[in-house]
Amino acid sequence: MRASLRFAEGPLRGPGRGGWPMTMLVFLETHDGELTKGGLGVLSKAATLGGEVAGAVLGSGVRDAGARAGAFGASTVYVVEDDALAAPLPQPRVDALEAVVAESGAENVFFAASVLAADVAAGLAARLGAGLNWDLTDVRVEGGELVGVRPALGDTVLVDVGWSSTPRLGLVRSGTFDPVEAGGSAEVRDVAVTFQDFSTQATLVDHLQEESSGPSIEDADVIVAGGRGLGGPEGFTLCEELASALGGAVAATRAVVDAGWYPYSAQVGQTGKTVSPKLYIALGISGAIQHKVGMQGSGTIVAINKDPNAPIFDFADLGVVGDLAQIAPKLTELLRARQ
Ligand SMILES: Cc1cc2nc3c(=O)[nH]c(=O)nc-3n(C[C@H](O)[C@H](O)[C@H](O)COP(=O)(O)OP(=O)(O)OC[C@H]3O[C@@H](n4cnc5c(N)ncnc54)[C@H](O)[C@@H]3O)c2cc1C
Repeated sequence: MRASLRFAEGPLRGPGRGGWPMTMLVFLETHDGELTKGGLGVLSKAATLGGEVAGAVLGSGVRDAGARAGAFGASTVYVVEDDALAAPLPQPRVDALEAVVAESGAENVFFAASVLAADVAAGLAARLGAGLNWDLTDVRVEGGELVGVRPALGDTVLVDVGWSSTPRLGLVRSGTFDPVEAGGSAEVRDVAVTFQDFSTQATLVDHLQEESSGPSIEDADVIVAGGRGLGGPEGFTLCEELASALGGAVAATRAVVDAGWYPYSAQVGQTGKTVSPKLYIALGISGAIQHKVGMQGSGTIVAINKDPNAPIFDFADLGVVGDLAQIAPKLTELLRARQ
């Protein structure tokens, strides 16, 4: 059951520096010179809230990528370019973001959750003595104040959260908001930063990239996910073939990654990734709440399960009751024939 609660203590009202509209600054991460989908999604959401929207792009050689944030709702993009920001390390980014917050006067700083963003958000909170609400799955303006929404109690309830000081920091659950390209352009402003000695002490020694083909589950429009119903690691061949026929990515439940059938990086759910593809095909997945919270934002959910009472049929758009070992290969064959 999902219900909406409010924290009984801690006022939702802001700290009294005036209500909305205010400036929302979004930390925009780059990978291989491109802005990531997560940050652009948060930027697009910020653009719907009615205040000033700005992006912060920190790195080396990221100016051009930063300028593209204008199309996703930023009116200003603050760029810090420095070799100290070339490696994806958090500490120099805390210095850089602190400088951008000072320059922009932003009352709100939001991040799309990632390993790097979570570290930067925590570091900035400590640096500024600011409050950080994390794992947000929505944000809105109510009565002139910013209100965050986050799941609690094992994702069974949604809780409204507020801030009691500025700047308000928010870390948004990955995959929550889709980027919406609305056109427009941003003014790009360079910000100078002086790094703290301790911020540049860590160096990146090595960087290993997991080999994969096709889109990542965070970026894929189509996901074929496998659960314990696949019967063993070899069952994932069915997922991979179907995903390949659809140009999609393969995901998994925690039960199967815990069993070593598939890598942890593919896990969707409460303790895995949150995804929102256009199409999510679940093969042999029961639909436990902890899995559901990671994929319920998918456009269309198709479930194939031999148990007509499987919980996944309660929220699937299309349910097929039957043996996946027979149905999945047929589906792949039909798709390939159509291509
Ligand atoms: C704190 C906590 C966090 C968790 N986090 C996550 C998380 O992030 N992600 C996650 O996924 N889970 C998570 N879980 C685990 C979750 O509760 C479930 O145990 C898990 O999702 C079940 O995985 P499953 O659907 O693969 O397996 P099962 O629940 O065993 O379901 C297998 C399904 O396959 C069907 N099936 C079997 N054979 C066939 C066949 N031949 N053809 C068609 N269907 C078949 C069965 O009918 C069944 O419905 C978490 C649990 C806890 C307590």
